[in-house]
Amino acid sequence: MTAQPKVVIVGAGIVGCALADELTARGWTEVTVLDQGPLFATGGSSSHAPGLVFQTNSSKTMTEFARYTVDKYTDLSLDGQWCFRKVGGLEVATTPERVAELTRKRGWAASWGVRARLADPDECVALHPLLDREQVLAGLHTPDDGLAKALRAGEAQARRAEARGARFLAHHTVTGIESSGGRVTGVVTDVAGVGTGVGTEQAVFPADIVVSCAGFWGPKLGRMAGLTVPLVPMAHQYARTTPLPVLAGQNTELQEATKPILRYQDRDLYFREHVDRIGIGSYAHRPLPVDLDDLDDLDDLDHPAAPGGPVMPSMLAFTEEDFEPSWHDARALLPALAGAKVEEGFNGVFSFTPDGFPLLGEAPELSGFWVAEAVWVTHSAGVAKAMAEWLVEGRSRTDLHECDLNRFEQVQLAPAYVHQRSCQNFVEVYDIVHPLQPMEEPRPLRVSPFHARQRELGAVFLEASGWERPHWYEANAGLAEVSEIPGRGAWASRYWSPIAGAEALATRSRVALYDMTALKRLEVTGPGALAFLQRLTTNQLDKPVGAVTYTLLLDESGGVRSDLTVARLGERRFQVGANGMLDLDWFTRHLPDDGTVQVRDITAGTCCLGVWGPLARELVQPLTGADFSHRGFGYFKARQTYLGNVPVTAMRLSYVGELGWELYTTADAGQQLWDTLWRAGQPLGIVAAGRSAFNSLRLEKGYRSWGTDMTAEHNPYEAGLGFAVRMDKGDFVGREALVGVTEETVARRLACLVLDDPHAVVTGKEPVYVDGAPAGYVTSAAYGYSVGRSIAYAWLPATAAAPGTRVQVEYFGERLPATVAAEPLFDPEMARIRR
Ligand SMILES: Cc1cc2nc3c(=O)[nH]c(=O)nc-3n(C[C@H](O)[C@H](O)[C@H](O)COP(=O)(O)OP(=O)(O)OC[C@H]3O[C@@H](n4cnc5c(N)ncnc54)[C@H](O)[C@@H]3O)c2cc1C
Repeated sequence: MTAQPKVVIVGAGIVGCALADELTARGWTEVTVLDQGPLFATGGSSSHAPGLVFQTNSSKTMTEFARYTVDKYTDLSLDGQWCFRKVGGLEVATTPERVAELTRKRGWAASWGVRARLADPDECVALHPLLDREQVLAGLHTPDDGLAKALRAGEAQARRAEARGARFLAHHTVTGIESSGGRVTGVVTDVAGVGTGVGTEQAVFPADIVVSCAGFWGPKLGRMAGLTVPLVPMAHQYARTTPLPVLAGQNTELQEATKPILRYQDRDLYFREHVDRIGIGSYAHRPLPVDLDDLDDLDDLDHPAAPGGPVMPSMLAFTEEDFEPSWHDARALLPALAGAKVEEGFNGVFSFTPDGFPLLGEAPELSGFWVAEAVWVTHSAGVAKAMAEWLVEGRSRTDLHECDLNRFEQVQLAPAYVHQRSCQNFVEVYDIVHPLQPMEEPRPLRVSPFHARQRELGAVFLEASGWERPHWYEANAGLAEVSEIPGRGAWASRYWSPIAGAEALATRSRVALYDMTALKRLEVTGPGALAFLQRLTTNQLDKPVGAVTYTLLLDESGGVRSDLTVARLGERRFQVGANGMLDLDWFTRHLPDDGTVQVRDITAGTCCLGVWGPLARELVQPLTGADFSHRGFGYFKARQTYLGNVPVTAMRLSYVGELGWELYTTADAGQQLWDTLWRAGQPLGIVAAGRSAFNSLRLEKGYRSWGTDMTAEHNPYEAGLGFAVRMDKGDFVGREALVGVTEETVARRLACLVLDDPHAVVTGKEPVYVDGAPAGYVTSAAYGYSVGRSIAYAWLPATAAAPGTRVQVEYFGERLPATVAAEPLFDPEMARIRR
């Protein structure tokens, strides 16, 4: 690739235009944007999006995308016309549950830095006089939310990009992706009306980088590149009313709207003004997935014309019967609609994904082919900035792991799964979703070899990456410890049982079995394996066979991409305990070309039981001829042996802070491993224990969970993981960025908080106040059953992270006093593990 790569962007919707602007602003000016439609009302989703921008999201990343979009579009105009109008946002609650949800949401806003406040019914009506005061219990007012004019903002950004050298070409349909040696080399297009003006001609655009910003056509572009793009085009209803007398003269044509954009999530509705009309969007109807192949055939489907424009593939005929209940609900909330009619409506198409997040990143098997799809107008500029940083600088400043194209397990790419989950996402788009709420269908998708035994014990399963994971076992309801477990509030009690507390206590007093199968396992082998892992990770791995090391994957800027446990099982063979598909993707991308290293995902073919507790040695030792004594089998050591009839790889590790081992075997022998341990454990009072207990025990010990506690936005010293960095071991990815950084120099820290009220258990993402002002946010939280305290880890400014500092955690609007504590809270001497 030359210093100035040739970039082809497919799609001149809001995302393609924003990306062209962000790339050219960073000096990449050889940018060509191709669209099958006319410019800029191309016929894609952006062409008719009503453009409501509500910034606050449970995801920090998505909120940051939206904030950037608001800031950027506020400063943009097109021929003197506004691109963003800060009319504010108002979400109203008509049920007590929604009032609580809006209170929780106000917390996210404070955590992520969005202005928001709760409004009482009178204030809601003052903000939006069309509301029926009697219906509204409360509202969340976000004064910086508003309306984006997607077409204008797209064109304004396109003009800036063109001024820097980019070109935008209409009526160029990309029909093929060219590649050579696993790298993209260009795109093939059908150009409508070229030459004689009749028919089409082909043109090829050479490219070093192709970014597909094709919106809901993404899967089609993906197929051209041999890539599965897991999104489903879905229709969503939008209607405009006839003029309302009450709005007459209130908004000029130029303004369009002056009242806040409105959400009525209890009925899956949103509203905005169109001068003297009201626009109503509904997610209340049945999911309406659309077949891409049908869409482009404009003759076969009923596509209404956009107002004042051409027929658009993304606009399907309005199905009135689907809108009927929403129309009824809309009139109940806004009585001024009583005399109005639905003047026009359409079923507009845009993208839904299995988990509701966008799809951003590079194809795993075709270098240079990138995707930025399933992006709302709301997040468009923020996504484009992150993509441009990623492309130009190698890394986005915003953590992207939730949005990474390569986050999905293979089972999650099955067309049936993508379809079902994306439809469900449409249904849930405005629902109140608990942080632990699992998907309901399709389940079970993946089960460990212990599943049958777990069911016999009454396991209560939640789901992660498709795996069924026990959170506690009803069979433990009779444990004496259950009566010692304190209760908690209604929200924190969901997907929780006091039984989990009993399992945690039983782990500390006896011995427990934990199913660790769902955690990603990679095998790295070959003559270059050690050098490869040394280069990619922070800790010293050049240790004798049998050593296990906790280490970090950093990006070039020193951000923590993952944390790993690496066991050296042979001179040229390592087993890596990883966090997910993104680790496999990162490894694969960094493999040397010479074939000296192989990486294999062994997760599905293997399984793992954690055996932890003070009686763990008494349980395991009699089952094996190997020496499992403290001296014979040291902490952070691994060995391959047999337990009964089962060949195992045993690693003396513990994420719960107790003596014990992780025992790995092949999937076929899993049940035998469980049965062997279970039988032998009966006299010792063994219990099966679930993730809920595990999470509490790990927080008592201060063990971080990547993705929740830290991400690529944080360096190891901020995250309290400096102990896993060996600056003197030689070069490794991210090392340069860490030179001069220490635990003392960092400006923020992950701190351990203890709540004054031990019964006040929080659930994560709550804002933390220092001296009355929001200063950070909670990452993981749990009740610590052994320490008898409610624990919350939180990001705080370093100045507020010293033990003893008094802070407040806002939970559903209540400021809970808490104190920064020295960590870990449990067994800081490690006496229970090292014996
Ligand atoms: C009714 C409705 C209401 C909505 N309301 C909101 C809202 O209030 N707020 C909000 O944030 N979002 C809203 N959205 C979602 C939002 O409109 C979309 O998510 C967003 O516009 C997608 O932008 P995009 O650039 O990714 O896709 P698009 O605008 O669809 O652009 C993709 C482009 O790729 C081009 N293309 C595709 N295939 C090819 C090819 N083979 N060759 C060349 N070009 C190709 C298309 O012609 C198109 O121009 C709404 C969507 C709908 C349908």
